[in-house]
Amino acid sequence: MMVKSTRSDERVTPSMAILNGLAKDGGLYVFESIPKIDIKQLTNASYTDVAKVVFGLLLDDFSQERLNDIIDQTYNSNLFHPAPITMTHHKNHSYLNLYHGETLAFKDMALSILPKLIQEAKQINGIDKPSIVLTATSGDTGSAALAGFQQNKDDYVFVLYPTQGVSSFQEKQMNQLQNDQCTVYAIDGNFDDCQTIVKTLFQSITLTNTTLVSANSINIGRLVPQITYYVYAYTKLVQDHVIPQLEPIDVVVPTGNFGNIYAAYIAKQMGVPFDTLTIASNTNNVLHDFFQTGSYTIKRPLYKTISPSMDIIISSNLERYLYTLFNHDASALQQAMTTLQSTGELHIDVVKHQTTFDSGMATEQETLQTIKDTFLNQGTVIDPHTAVGTYVYHHTPHNHHTIIVATASPFKFIDAMEDALDIEPSGDLQSRLQRFAGHVHIPFPARINHIASYTLEQKQILTKDEAMTIIRQKVGIIDEN
Ligand SMILES: *Cc1c(COP(=O)(O)O)cnc(C)c1O
Repeated sequence: MMVKSTRSDERVTPSMAILNGLAKDGGLYVFESIPKIDIKQLTNASYTDVAKVVFGLLLDDFSQERLNDIIDQTYNSNLFHPAPITMTHHKNHSYLNLYHGETLAFKDMALSILPKLIQEAKQINGIDKPSIVLTATSGDTGSAALAGFQQNKDDYVFVLYPTQGVSSFQEKQMNQLQNDQCTVYAIDGNFDDCQTIVKTLFQSITLTNTTLVSANSINIGRLVPQITYYVYAYTKLVQDHVIPQLEPIDVVVPTGNFGNIYAAYIAKQMGVPFDTLTIASNTNNVLHDFFQTGSYTIKRPLYKTISPSMDIIISSNLERYLYTLFNHDASALQQAMTTLQSTGELHIDVVKHQTTFDSGMATEQETLQTIKDTFLNQGTVIDPHTAVGTYVYHHTPHNHHTIIVATASPFKFIDAMEDALDIEPSGDLQSRLQRFAGHVHIPFPARINHIASYTLEQKQILTKDEAMTIIRQKVGIIDEN
């Protein structure tokens, strides 16, 4: 099967799409045809069994044997504890907990395996060069990429994050993961600025001895692992006797870059019985507006919220869905994207008539209140992103059992958790995290010990231009050696 650009007829193999990240024309890669999966056959399958089927169907120029090895090495290892995913069932909804990886957010599900997929993709294409990974982050991608790529000893990682736009825990976590080959930069700007720097560098740097790689969610190497957990989550609901086989369900996803929910959309097209997919936005509700009105307007202020990983205006992966809305007409989409760039707006008529997606949003106050209510009424502790999803779940119609995607551990967002649960924020990070664990009666995750006790050296904050110059220089030196 080939993978195609959203903006032209450019076609490449899945392994080349993983290596390229973006198409040469600036478009995103999409699967030309979506294979069907036999969900009934998978009812008693393990997580790795499901992964082997999904990866095998979509990455069909990889050998099944190598995929199986890579999948076992990732999801059957101590990278995930206690299991790749868990689910918590309530009366009409279940949480799909995706934060059991090394950096405690759902990004680990894909970024723990992406480095191995990249190695394998290089083998397949006879490329014998180290990678330079360049990535913008609103917090969680950065640490997950740093943790994931430490496996590839020859590769280099550069992470850019908005200095004011991540939680203190996220900032410590990223800085703590630095070493000779992995560098983190605090940028004086917001996430969209970081993303712009990365895009500009991608388009302007040419390398001879190394290759540039994207760890952002535009890479189909991130999409495939994310499809996997949706397929597995459905089979788990059947296994756990929450729903009968083939019963439709709804899914609510806290959404920023449209990566996670797009994976649910592909799972649905593969035949998983999903009915409505609900986008949950925070105050940065550009996607909610789009799905309600058909107008995508990116000239608006970016608010800093307590769910920072969704503080995004330019939602990169939306282009993949727009391609569907444009009936796969790449040149019409190319034109629309040019208009979007110059005017900051895009209008689509069909959005309100389509039935797959619904959307909602939660304000900061509603998010805090939801954390509190969910804890007091159900004893369930959810992070602010998951709380946005939970609020939207309660305020949108659902005719089926619903999966709410829990995207991060509450420990990563201690400020908001203390605020929501009226816990006094005193002492250092270590003692605050411990007090919080005691308050909510959940065990202190061993993997955060080293972050809690880490002191951030004084950090250097770079302007966009400074970052651009420094990274260009460093990449140049790496490439020469
Ligand atoms: C990245 C992230 C999101 C948003 O996911 P998208 O794929 O960008 O829509 C939501 N919650 C958390 C905790 C995240 O890290």
